[in-house]
Amino acid sequence: MQTAIGVDLGGSHVTAGIVGEDGSILGQHEHDLEQTDFATVIDALESVVGKALGQAGKAAAIGIGSPGNVDPATGIVRYSPNLGWEDAPLGPALAKRLRIPVVVGNDARCATLGEYTFGTGMETRDFALLTIGTGIGGGIVSAGELLVGHQFGAGEFGHHQIRPRDGFVCGCGKIGCFEAQASGTGLIRHALALASSFPRSALLDVARESFSSKKIRKAAQAGDGHARAAWENFAADLALGLANLIAFANPQRIALGGGVSSAGDFMLEAVRARVDELTTMVPRGTTEIAIAKLGNDAGQVGAATMAFRGGLTTHAR
Ligand SMILES: [Zn+2]
Repeated sequence: MQTAIGVDLGGSHVTAGIVGEDGSILGQHEHDLEQTDFATVIDALESVVGKALGQAGKAAAIGIGSPGNVDPATGIVRYSPNLGWEDAPLGPALAKRLRIPVVVGNDARCATLGEYTFGTGMETRDFALLTIGTGIGGGIVSAGELLVGHQFGAGEFGHHQIRPRDGFVCGCGKIGCFEAQASGTGLIRHALALASSFPRSALLDVARESFSSKKIRKAAQAGDGHARAAWENFAADLALGLANLIAFANPQRIALGGGVSSAGDFMLEAVRARVDELTTMVPRGTTEIAIAKLGNDAGQVGAATMAFRGGLTTHAR
């Protein structure tokens, strides 16, 4: 079976997977990133992808999912606030070092391609993925095509504002973005915002660094009043954004991925009825909301799929 190397480039580490044409992962190599300046990242990529290539024997190409606004035609990362880059020639620089074709796309769009082709999106033509972690990333497939957009910004729904007047400040500078309200970070902020209403709550009586969205969700499941209230506010905001997404793209199925989606049925139950209530111009109950199947592998699988196809296209060549 032919293989490609699918790379998931994050702010703190790089993972390179050896991926078969059927989407299976045959091996994985990881490398921690202490810094994200371009030279350091290229060195790390050369090392980790080199190891993957050594194991794969022969790979067709390398696909890299990178945070930020990426021009897939040139492999240039036009800007990435997460990595602190502007106009970084990621694809050309790595191709020169490894002497193998390198294709680069936005990380969330790569994950959407992976999930659409080999995961929850299979057997649909209208699909959306939301990766809910510290932020919200995602992508939209419409009529079988992954939407990339005029300037490669399609699918950046993490930054559509749902609470512009009373919301939390987003990393992008706006107030009340979907990702500021309904990511794992958003859940923590909801808990902090409610603290004064629950003076006897023990939820926040832990060191700040060990305070996590998972802790709040588990406490909510166990019936803690403060956690429950935070979870309700979070779920209301998540449902608001999902209903907007349905109005924009009318997907058949929406997959929820990322760390926060490990809440599984507890999360689905919290949002499904709310989303229905907020859905007006699409028949209610016709949008499936499910938990993503590929988990953290979606980015690598999608990046490799992009490498096989020479770009972020949903069609096999
Ligand atoms: Zn934002």
